[in-house]
Amino acid sequence: MSRILRRCHSTLGFVFDIDGVLLKGQNAIPQARETLTTLQTKKVPFILLTNGGGVLESARCDFISQKLQLAQPLLTRQLVQSHTPLRTLSSKHRRVLVVGGPGDRARGVAQEYGFQEVLRPIDLIKANPSIWPFHKYTTHEVDEWGLDPELSRVAVGGTNEPIDSILVFNDPRDMGSDIQIVLDLLNSENGLLGTRRTKSTSVPAVPIIFSNNDLLWATDFKLPRFGQGAFKIMVQALYQQTNNGSPLQSLTLGKPYKVCYDYAHHVLIDYRNSLLSGDFNRPPYMPQLNSSPAKTPFDKVFMVGDNPESDILGGNNYHWDTILVRTGVYKDGDFEQDSKLARPTFGTFDNVRDGVFAALEKYA
Ligand SMILES: [Mg+2]
Repeated sequence: MSRILRRCHSTLGFVFDIDGVLLKGQNAIPQARETLTTLQTKKVPFILLTNGGGVLESARCDFISQKLQLAQPLLTRQLVQSHTPLRTLSSKHRRVLVVGGPGDRARGVAQEYGFQEVLRPIDLIKANPSIWPFHKYTTHEVDEWGLDPELSRVAVGGTNEPIDSILVFNDPRDMGSDIQIVLDLLNSENGLLGTRRTKSTSVPAVPIIFSNNDLLWATDFKLPRFGQGAFKIMVQALYQQTNNGSPLQSLTLGKPYKVCYDYAHHVLIDYRNSLLSGDFNRPPYMPQLNSSPAKTPFDKVFMVGDNPESDILGGNNYHWDTILVRTGVYKDGDFEQDSKLARPTFGTFDNVRDGVFAALEKYA
């Protein structure tokens, strides 16, 4: 233990964004491998913190480890996706509607988090296609992904059970049906589909949690595309419209919000404990939402990101040090164009290796 302690720079920690820092689209950013391998060798604690999601944490870790050709693969306990903190709700919310993500993969994620009954909008379409006549699912997809109504118990007018909450795991893939079904539930009698409550209030019939607030994201297309934040604006606007102007109460996770950094901070401390003890098999610590660690063992934590508006803003607000890289969203000149953009406390670097090595040189 003492030898490990001596070799471990345990008072420094790093938190990495993924897209634009370690990966660009599906491909590795060249300097990422050397960076993470160096931290692994020096036993410097680090985790990944992304506003992405829609897939299992283990699947994303495998994907990144393989793309970066890491000799020592990343561990699931080192990754916080935007929806990872939702796992803490699985003991309170039994029957949930999970929205967004590729294919039907978010259902598996929610089940892995421990939610007992996981419904998807496609289950409701399977039970009653007229709930949104213009849906874009193929017959094959409805057959393959949709739960049978006897299992989902969402038969409007027939056997039906209330839904406890709406969890938006990732960007919707069929925006029209998702919007209709989400609004139906927010305006229902206590989460019972096919009902419409009479009162107008800011408190929806069931709580809704958005896993991130990203209005735009970068794709292969030449201009940024709408993300989950755009979906949230639509839900909010329609809710207000259908509730006599009352704004929707909701919770949003992800960067730059404190709720996300609190969760990540716990995960980083937990990973450090594993590094120090050498025990990576014990179950990971499960922090509660909105709880800050009572104390931190770190002198410095660096948030490394490519997006001033999420990574850097959130990191600065959380009083971490921040490193901005030029391999993603941020472009030189952005600060001159927008003086309100959050600036990194430690500096702007060409890539993740230059930023991390400069921090190690100064503090390790
Ligand atoms: Mg990014």
